[in-house]
Amino acid sequence: MASQDLLKSGCMRRIGNGRSTKVWTIPWLPDAHNPYVESDQVFANQSLLVSDLIDDNTGRWNVDLLHQGFNPRDVMLISQLPVNLDYDDMWYWEGDLKGCYSVKNGYHRLSFISSQVSPVWQNIWSLQVPPKWRVFLWRALLNILPSLDNLIIRRVDLLNICPSCGLYEECLLHIFCSCPFAVTVWHMSQIQIPSFANRSFLQWTEEWLGGASQFGADAQGRICGILHAIWTARNTAVWDGCMPTPYSLLWRFSAAWTAWTDCERQRQQACCGNTMLQPSPSTATSQVPTPYQCYVDAGFHGTNHAAAFGFIVLDNDSSYVVAANGPLSCPHDPPLAEAMALREALSWLKDNGYSGGRLYTDSSVLVSGLKCASSFRNYFGFILLSCNRLINAMPGTLVSFVNREANHVAHSLSKHISAVAGRSVWRDVPPAFIQPLVANII
Ligand SMILES: [Zn+2]
Repeated sequence: MASQDLLKSGCMRRIGNGRSTKVWTIPWLPDAHNPYVESDQVFANQSLLVSDLIDDNTGRWNVDLLHQGFNPRDVMLISQLPVNLDYDDMWYWEGDLKGCYSVKNGYHRLSFISSQVSPVWQNIWSLQVPPKWRVFLWRALLNILPSLDNLIIRRVDLLNICPSCGLYEECLLHIFCSCPFAVTVWHMSQIQIPSFANRSFLQWTEEWLGGASQFGADAQGRICGILHAIWTARNTAVWDGCMPTPYSLLWRFSAAWTAWTDCERQRQQACCGNTMLQPSPSTATSQVPTPYQCYVDAGFHGTNHAAAFGFIVLDNDSSYVVAANGPLSCPHDPPLAEAMALREALSWLKDNGYSGGRLYTDSSVLVSGLKCASSFRNYFGFILLSCNRLINAMPGTLVSFVNREANHVAHSLSKHISAVAGRSVWRDVPPAFIQPLVANII
């Protein structure tokens, strides 16, 4: 695919006030397969602007007008877009978190185009493993690891004989799947990995890391780690001329995995412990502080990917204060939904006189995004900016990352089916469906 086509295929219009985006000819809808309006053109005006569909008084979509002029698919997609009259429209790169083009995202886009959006490309980045394992897996899926067949394609003069077994030609599937060394490693690991038969490496990875995967976070982390260990062992064969035994490979992997997960757990506990025990500086100095902890999460429901938020507020002694959930108007974009969920929690806290507490999200992208909100070109950037405004309005407020396990109450709130129907707030007594979970943390 020519690079221009690639660029064009990933370029989308982010709507702010809608004044510089034509409705019919610009890709602006949140559908990666077809970001163009599909409705028949009933408005005579060819140069109808997106701003014409926004009610200036309310700053929201003019729903009546949408239903008059667009088919249900377009109405649903348009209604999901956040409007922000304070910002101009701008182009952004659909595949990138910040909305900017990069080579990495070009690769992502190519993979996206060829594989019809495998969720694997997104799920890699939420694997709970050391970052270098993630990057390794990402490179393996792009087939850009320096395996012998790849080097030969790049005209490096080599003989292709697998350095691990010395029996067959080397390619990615051989290294990780069919090489006798890999076969023994997987067998001894006792992880029931999916079959490699008749699958590409990407297809095989989809089986355990894709949308329909039955594998839990721990098993996914282990598979990723063992793939990395096999690749590392293969490299010692190339560079040092020796290989570990499958047993010692697994022993070393196991030690590294246990050390990493223990360390993560301790980091987590230290983080929560500090919040419980030490009042934040603003708490100590402010006059009427209300220190609290708020856990917040977003989730998607059903085939339409209806987005919802959930949050729970605990006092500084971990006693229950309030829980809430409700729908979000949001495309199927997890970081955007997480940011919108945070905004819901912040708004509620501000409206109810809270200040100076700590909010927890399991989206590390959101926590780091808040620090550089103005560098984002897409919708995520809008929401980050409004979160920052709320945070600044409540001095001493901090947003921190927690892993998913620690955020399970908020997760369960956002996944509860009533969240789609309408907003619910439970004061003083938690709803029945989270009571067993709350009992464990109080
Ligand atoms: Zn081999």
